Amino acid sequence: MKKKACFPGSFDPFTKGHEDIIRKGLGLFDEIVIAVGVNSNKNYLFPLEKRLRHIESCFKGEQKIRVITYEKLTVEMCKDEGCSYILRGLRDVKDFNYEVPIALMNRSMTEIETVFLIPDTSLFAINATIIREIYKNGGKIDKYVTNFDQLVN
Ligand code: ADP
Repeated sequence: MKKKACFPGSFDPFTKGHEDIIRKGLGLFDEIVIAVGVNSNKNYLFPLEKRLRHIESCFKGEQKIRVITYEKLTVEMCKDEGCSYILRGLRDVKDFNYEVPIALMNRSMTEIETVFLIPDTSLFAINATIIREIYKNGGKIDKYVTNFDQLVN
């Protein structure tokens, strides 16, 4: 049976840290569904359409990647997409403390396992919240975001 994982997030924006986790995951899974969560109560910096187009541009020609949006419980989206695994990145203890209870609840509700991967050390400090702050204040973020042009043009 094909091993399918989903990589959920808001990806506002999709950074080189996210990309690294996906590229590492491609060695483990037959298919990875990048699932952009849509929360109507949340204000995003980059429009959904641009985020989707940007993520697609980062994996052009990669047959094992699909990009979707979803607006439901992550485990329900996984079932709909036929994914038995959730892929997440771990940078530090803060990520660990946040992620483990969610992973345990997801496993208790379903049988979906969460797989954690650690990014390259050079990417540890990349965090979408900080990247947004830099951008909002006029700083350059193209060093942290592949194909930055696709996100803003
Ligand atoms: P978003 O704001 O896009 O939801 P998150 O930070 O929640 O971003 O990202 C979704 C997943 O990506 C999480 O598992 C998170 O740990 C991981 N992630 C985010 N930035 C990095 C990074 N620099 N290196 C590795 N994993 C990362």
